[in-house]
Amino acid sequence: MYDVIIIGAGVSGAATARELSRYNVKTCVIEKEEDVCCGTSKANSAIVHAGYDAAEGSLMAKLNVRGNQMMEQLSKDLDFPFKKNGSMVVCLHEEDMPKLHALYDRGIANGVKELRILNREELKEMEPNISDEACAALYAPTAGIICPFNMNIAMAENAYANGVEFKFDTEVTDLKPIDEGWEVHTNNGVFQTRYVVNAAGVYADKFHNMVSEKKIHITPRRGDYCLLDKSAGNHVSKIIFALPGKYGKGILVTPTVHGNLLLGPTAIDVEDKEGTNTTREGLDQVIERAGMNVKDIPLRQVITSFSGLRAHEDGHEFIIGEVEDAKGFIDCAGIESPGLTSAPAIGEMVAQILKEKMNLEEKEDFVATRKGILNPNTLSKEDRIALIKEKPEYGNIICRCEMVTEGEIIDAITRPLGAKSLDGVKRRTRAGMGRCQAGFCSPKTMEILARERHVSMFDITKSGGDSRIVTDHNKDSL
Ligand SMILES: Cc1cc2nc3c(=O)[nH]c(=O)nc-3n(C[C@H](O)[C@H](O)[C@H](O)COP(=O)(O)OP(=O)(O)OC[C@H]3O[C@@H](n4cnc5c(N)ncnc54)[C@H](O)[C@@H]3O)c2cc1C
Repeated sequence: MYDVIIIGAGVSGAATARELSRYNVKTCVIEKEEDVCCGTSKANSAIVHAGYDAAEGSLMAKLNVRGNQMMEQLSKDLDFPFKKNGSMVVCLHEEDMPKLHALYDRGIANGVKELRILNREELKEMEPNISDEACAALYAPTAGIICPFNMNIAMAENAYANGVEFKFDTEVTDLKPIDEGWEVHTNNGVFQTRYVVNAAGVYADKFHNMVSEKKIHITPRRGDYCLLDKSAGNHVSKIIFALPGKYGKGILVTPTVHGNLLLGPTAIDVEDKEGTNTTREGLDQVIERAGMNVKDIPLRQVITSFSGLRAHEDGHEFIIGEVEDAKGFIDCAGIESPGLTSAPAIGEMVAQILKEKMNLEEKEDFVATRKGILNPNTLSKEDRIALIKEKPEYGNIICRCEMVTEGEIIDAITRPLGAKSLDGVKRRTRAGMGRCQAGFCSPKTMEILARERHVSMFDITKSGGDSRIVTDHNKDSL
């Protein structure tokens, strides 16, 4: 019998697991995919929003601002990349200035610090590639960029180190109330728990509606992106937003924390909760709208496109708390943007709810820090040479685009909750994220995966399940 089962190992589930691991409580995270960070948390803009977007007084606004305030310390404690580079909302037409001021006022009401409105000259000086049409911008120095994969993985690893169990490739199929809590049915057996946390992203409505008469509805709202090579990474230094519209924050242009340039996302409502295909129309829209706020974007440097699905709940608000007519079932639903920013605060809030319900006591041996994968490029020349002498695998470059060594890949595979697939290695080390998009390094990474995991090359997948890369014709024809 668990005390808490969390459905979903995205940022909401991982943050909740980490916060809960501060207490004496038996917690398990159940994830249908092969790894953490396989849902929306892996495909988004990676912005730590300042907090001026969400409606005043909303839970979204409160958790956005709190999450933003927590991010710097969290990134230090858990060793994931975060850069506070600031954001700008660009106003292209004088007649839209009231909208910019309204955003400023909302930010102040939400408790966002250091906000100010820049005039044309200040704006141009800070961002020379901003559109010549730009007449003003709302500047938020507290906004920033993170690595969403590493944040998600870091929180999960830290939760694991503090005693939380993780079950992967385990899909929750049904929930049944029992005397002391819930029976969680999965494709890998039935588990009993006192509390369930529903952090299932775009599927959170499915689980909520299984247990409650008060139905909710989540629309997967797709956002398409273009990612540009690192040679374009300095085209802007801050996150450049358009004025928000009916479907949200619009199309942005931003450097990523790893030095690429990111354009997107669109906002297209779809039916399919797994529908992360990009479309020609979507990408055309990204390119056209990005070009309205930032000029001369070097579009020939696009290296890939991708899309993610927002879990848009009809009320456009985070739904967090015990479900009225389902005792012991805690929703963490409708976590659309700014869900990544808010995740640390979401985890804190859900853990607080459970702490009060179960009267939890803090552990004495909670470890608040975690070390990420050592990147030899961050070392001095002397230290790098010493490392390579001791461990020659750190001198063997596997991914030439991102300069990722065999040592880093081995660490990614062998550490707790380590990578099992090519994408798992990619999210942890960036091997395959560069200009050639894994064209050169895939076979080598597969060999390392097979060797370290003691499995055959035929069992190596791109992203778990049936996504095998090499097939055995002899075996398949039997
Ligand atoms: C286009 C786009 C741009 C965004 N940009 C930003 C941004 O810049 N800043 C920001 O703060 N936020 C942003 N967001 C929002 C942010 O990415 C999300 O709010 C956040 O990642 C949601 O995390 P989650 O853990 O709730 O959901 P997910 O990451 O989707 O995790 C849910 C998990 O539940 C698992 N699951 C589902 N069903 C089952 C089942 N039956 N059994 C077991 N497991 C199951 C899934 O596999 C998944 O791993 C953006 C979102 C999108 C789509």
